[in-house]
Amino acid sequence: MMVDIVAKKWVVDALDPSEIERRLDEVVLKDEAWRGHDRNTRTEPVRSTNWASQIGYECARRLYYERAAASKKAPFSLSSLRAMREGKRHEEAAKRDLEMVGYRWDRAQERVYIARLNTSGKIEGYLIDERSSRSAGMSRVLSEIKSMDKMIWPRFLSFDALLASRWYASYLHQLNAYLAGCDEPVGLFINRNRGTGQMAFLYWEFDCEMFAADERKTKIVEDAIDAKEPPACVEDTTNCPDCPFVAHCGPDLSGGAGVKFALKSKDEEIARIARLVELDPLVTEYKELDDWKRRRFGTAGHAEIVGPFTVMARPAGKGVRVTIRRTGDGENY
Ligand code: SF4
Repeated sequence: MMVDIVAKKWVVDALDPSEIERRLDEVVLKDEAWRGHDRNTRTEPVRSTNWASQIGYECARRLYYERAAASKKAPFSLSSLRAMREGKRHEEAAKRDLEMVGYRWDRAQERVYIARLNTSGKIEGYLIDERSSRSAGMSRVLSEIKSMDKMIWPRFLSFDALLASRWYASYLHQLNAYLAGCDEPVGLFINRNRGTGQMAFLYWEFDCEMFAADERKTKIVEDAIDAKEPPACVEDTTNCPDCPFVAHCGPDLSGGAGVKFALKSKDEEIARIARLVELDPLVTEYKELDDWKRRRFGTAGHAEIVGPFTVMARPAGKGVRVTIRRTGDGENY
């Protein structure tokens, strides 16, 4: 776990360290109060910061809702809850595995505040390799651990692949924000295979452009919160159906030219749609069997008795119509 990087420092936050400390205390207090809020209360508390795990979300409106309309959020599905619990378990397991081979953690789960993104979060910690000397390379590196299902893990072993995924790209935005918050030039992204426990280690250099894009988004969110007015919907609404706020902002959503999401449906329509969804796999099966029937019996004038069925193919217009009738009974046909 060594990398040859000449440490470069830059000033990400021009704030005085004591001011950062003061804001951090304020954030902790406000966020704790927010977490304790009753979802059923009528007044909507406003969360004071963005969360680092969410700052990579493409949609500023979603970030606004996360902060100012949390009670409108759709509850997590059981599978999402299970995935989150699994993720936590694998992160802990990865930490233990690394400790067993001689690494140690420093500043584990310490909260940081990134003023320019008005974002807070808890860093995984600094991974320390006590066996390497400082002069030999990097012996202490800010790290973030994530885990993935064993089927998809091999596809996400490069930053290009992670950045191409809207969902997983947010992991890198989170790490990038933490690098800014800790004034570090490089961080380590550790991706654990949930099936095998294998870990991939990727060094991530602070990305100024990514930070600048997140900063622009932050400005939109802060202005919207001040104005108490959600920002515009994201332009590409492809992923909106997966957003926990889709039901809340759906009426404003456009699904492309001439398409508008309308969310108030009648029970009868819901029942019909549910039945359509139920029948959908049968339609495919029916079409496959119908194609087979035409290939097998579709010669005009063909007639055949197949068990209890009589199959006849007659000319019909320019084609052939194949009809099947049950002419036998049970076993005695
Ligand atoms: S539904 Fe779409 S536009 Fe609305 S908050 Fe979610 S991602 Fe943004």
